Amino acid sequence: EVTNPLYVFEQLESEVRSYCRSFPTVFSRSSGYKVWDRKGKEYIDFFAGAGSLNYGHNNPKIKQKLIEYLMKDGITHSLDMATEAKEELLVGFRDVILKPRKLNYKVMFPGPTGTNSVESALKLARKVTGREIVMSFTNAFHGMTVGSLSVTGNKFKRRGAGMSLTNTVSMPFDGYLGNQVNTAEYIERFLEDNGSGVSLPAAIILETVQGEGGINAASFEWLKEIESICRRWEILLIVDDVQVGCGRTGPFFSFEPAGIQPDIICLSKSIGGYGIPLALTLIKPEHDVWEPGEHNGTFRGHNLAFVAGREALQYWETDQFSKQIQQKGEKVNRFLRQLVERYPEMRGEVRGRGLIQGIALGVDGLAEKICAAAFDKGLIMETSGPSSEVIKLLPPLIIDNEGLEKGLQIIAASFEQCRR
Ligand code: PMP
Repeated sequence: EVTNPLYVFEQLESEVRSYCRSFPTVFSRSSGYKVWDRKGKEYIDFFAGAGSLNYGHNNPKIKQKLIEYLMKDGITHSLDMATEAKEELLVGFRDVILKPRKLNYKVMFPGPTGTNSVESALKLARKVTGREIVMSFTNAFHGMTVGSLSVTGNKFKRRGAGMSLTNTVSMPFDGYLGNQVNTAEYIERFLEDNGSGVSLPAAIILETVQGEGGINAASFEWLKEIESICRRWEILLIVDDVQVGCGRTGPFFSFEPAGIQPDIICLSKSIGGYGIPLALTLIKPEHDVWEPGEHNGTFRGHNLAFVAGREALQYWETDQFSKQIQQKGEKVNRFLRQLVERYPEMRGEVRGRGLIQGIALGVDGLAEKICAAAFDKGLIMETSGPSSEVIKLLPPLIIDNEGLEKGLQIIAASFEQCRR
């Protein structure tokens, strides 16, 4: 117990625990882009709660709003009853996010977390179209409950369902077959060729940048082609912006630069502003065919999340924040490209958009080794991709130059340490 910091967790918590294995310490405090463990060791956070802490740990402005709300005995839990905090979030989301982008969506609160949003999107698409099949992509990640697992392209995770996951068809994502093959053309052919035996899908669900799947960024042209396929075949387009929405790639919605308009948008992670669980499903008004109570749940939006989420929208009142994210992303990308050039034997490839950047390494187990070395040196960073072969950089979006620089230097030192 004295020598093993995780003794209690190993004794009392299920074997299913995962991130604590990569980061074997007990954390106690955090601020901005920094986290401290129980012993007072400081870490720079390039993981940001898997994208839930875009505005940083304990963001001071958001914290202040939460304290004020608690001090006035504001409602905390309210099922889906109407509250002032919820009203302010809805109005703020309309005025700060939807209106300036000329977008018209109704907001659905599907449950507390990302997978709840995906489940609701799949159900709604099936209800609107009266069709069953949903098309998804290789290496996609949409969540762990059965519906979202059925559109997740990961063998290990799918096996965990213990049952067949049906009514889906998986297609090659952009770039999956190499840069010479346009997989959108393949999808179009597949739909035309009804001899292949799959009935018309209700929806196509995609991430514009696959986060868990290895930082695979779809090109804007490809996204446009997928959108036109959806329009041509009257298939609903679901964009899962759970990880790469809320500014991760630069703009608030990751798909904005592609100029597409999804029918359904899934949001979670940083939409709760402070790492408080919240999920939204954005739906076109004409698709709002739900009957009251047809999709419900006890925790469909927590008022603390509404308060925090509303305050976080302040970052989007001008385009400053988005520009800063892009600049920081370019800086990170440049640094990483120069870094991988120094180690050709690691066969590194840099990919990403905005502040989701990855380094895919062509040597087995190397990405995990580098992340472990970085953790020792005080940097929290995870891997992604089907064989954990991609180092994923996901710093809080509010990180300053000093924090970025420090983190990048630790990555460089870890590369040097792990060279063969
Ligand atoms: N969709 C995407 C794109 C995600 O990255 C995740 C979580 N990593 C989810 C859905 C599921 O979200 P949650 O873990 O909150 O259920």
